[in-house]
Amino acid sequence: MEELIFVGTSSGKTDAIRFHSSLFFRTENYGLLIDAGDGIAKGLLNAGIDFDEIDGVVITHTHADHFAGLASLVTQMIIDGRKKSFQIFIFNDYQKQLLDFLNLAVLFPETFSFDLRIKGFEFGIENNIAGSLSFLARQNSHVVNKRKVETDFPFASASIFLNAGKHGVVYTSDVGNAKDLRLFDDLTYDIFISECEHIKPKDIANFSKTKKDVSFFITHYTDAEEIRRAFSHSSFKIAYDKLKINPNKI
Ligand SMILES: [Zn+2]
Ligand SMILES: [Zn+2]
Repeated sequence: MEELIFVGTSSGKTDAIRFHSSLFFRTENYGLLIDAGDGIAKGLLNAGIDFDEIDGVVITHTHADHFAGLASLVTQMIIDGRKKSFQIFIFNDYQKQLLDFLNLAVLFPETFSFDLRIKGFEFGIENNIAGSLSFLARQNSHVVNKRKVETDFPFASASIFLNAGKHGVVYTSDVGNAKDLRLFDDLTYDIFISECEHIKPKDIANFSKTKKDVSFFITHYTDAEEIRRAFSHSSFKIAYDKLKINPNKI
C-alpha cells in the first residue's frame, strides 16, 4: 500500500466543512474506496482524487453517511466517459436492493460505457480484490433491528480488515459497543482506524493499551474540539479531511 487518504472524517451528522467518513487506499495497481456516503463525489474532488483512480468500493453498511453518495459517484463516472471496470463490494443480501437503488437514480449498468461489477460478500470469508489486496468483513453490532420493523432483508454492518501486502489495516466503520473493537484480535495489523461516535474515547484508549506496534487513527467524529481534548494525552492521530498517510513512514 502506498497511501491512505482520509476523504472524509465527519460522523452521520452533516458538517459544514468536513465530508462524511470514507477512506481511500492507493496501492500499486488498485485504488480502493471504503464507503461512499452522501457527498462522496465532491469529497473525492476535494481530496484531489480522480474518479478514474477508484477501481472499487467496499460498503460497510447502508446508512446514508456510508452509502448514499454511490449513485452520484457512478453518475460522475458516466459523465467522465469511464472505460475501466468498477467494482462494488456489498453485503451479499443487499445486491438486489443496490441495483434497485441505482435503477431508481436512472442508472442501468447494461447501458454504461464501463463494466459495473456488483460483488456480494459474506461475513467471515476473505475477499480477493486484486493481486495481494484482499479484505475480510466481520459483522459488528452497529445496525440492529431495534424497532422490530418488518423488512425482507437483514440488518447488517461490517468492520473491515484490509490485507494490503506488508500492511494490515482495521477499519471499525460504525460500531455498536466496545467489544466490536476486538473483532480482529486474532489477526495481525499495524493500522487501526476507529470511529468515535458510538463509542467513548476512554474505551478506544483502553483497547489500544492491549496492542503493540499499532498506529491508531480516530475518524467519524462530530465535535472536533471535543475529540482533540479527549485524545490530547495520547499518541492517537485525529484524522482530518484530506489527511494523507504513507503507511511505510508512520
Ligand atoms: Zn456513520
Ligand atoms: Zn452507521
